[in-house]
Amino acid sequence: MSAEKTLAIVLRVVEFSETSYIATLYTEDFGKITGLAKGARRPKSAFENALDVLAVSRVVFLRKSTDGIDLLTEAKLERRFRAAAHSLRSLYSAYYVVELLNSLTDEHDPHPELFRMAVRTVMDLDENRNPRESLLRFELAVLRSLGQMPLLDRCVECGTLLPEGVRVAFGHLAGGALCPRCKVGQRHVVSLSAGGGKLLRTLADEIENLEQQPLVMQRGQLEEQCGNGTDQDAVSVAAPIVNAWGELRGLMDNRMSHALGRRARMFAYLKALK
Ligand SMILES: [Zn+2]
Repeated sequence: MSAEKTLAIVLRVVEFSETSYIATLYTEDFGKITGLAKGARRPKSAFENALDVLAVSRVVFLRKSTDGIDLLTEAKLERRFRAAAHSLRSLYSAYYVVELLNSLTDEHDPHPELFRMAVRTVMDLDENRNPRESLLRFELAVLRSLGQMPLLDRCVECGTLLPEGVRVAFGHLAGGALCPRCKVGQRHVVSLSAGGGKLLRTLADEIENLEQQPLVMQRGQLEEQCGNGTDQDAVSVAAPIVNAWGELRGLMDNRMSHALGRRARMFAYLKALK
């Protein structure tokens, strides 16, 4: 067993014994891990609040060489998720991020760029910064890590280049844009407006830029580094394309259900708030 250090976001914590927890973490360098935190339930343990769900913490763990679970030896809180106390929408949205990471990533399969996007998204949700945009961007990042990014520039069937700035047919079964010829006879095809298409492209470009940026946990620096924008920016993207957000939300609900093989559990909770 060798000791590994990494940054992690806490996905799930279950009681294991009177004194221990088993924690599922999504880590920057090792992907998802499950570790036993001995003594974590004791008062004044070495883990303190570092194993609360949605906390971002620096962890040290011993990697088991066989199939057994890893052993968490240290966890130090870097950033607490605070929105739980004041915004149910932020909390449910952050739980949705957790659901996607829990369901759609594998243990010991690192995707550092997805980890950084997850932390950024949770921080955005915590601060109620462009929550709708943040969540869509994260969903796209998840699809990208799975090789299921819904691209619009080419027909998914025949590869024909498709023009920008016009309506595009999107085939849910085909998993992408369809040219006029290939869409004939296809089922579950929706028409995405030019505005919806533009919004999708903008968010996809932002992911590519953000993935190159190092993660900075202080708020001011993060905004500066990512050019993450403000609420005004979000409005300016959406202003000429009023319906684009709703359209893209519908498309993404479908894509995520496809990736999960079921409807996301948190959708019902988020919908209940509307
Ligand atoms: Zn085609």
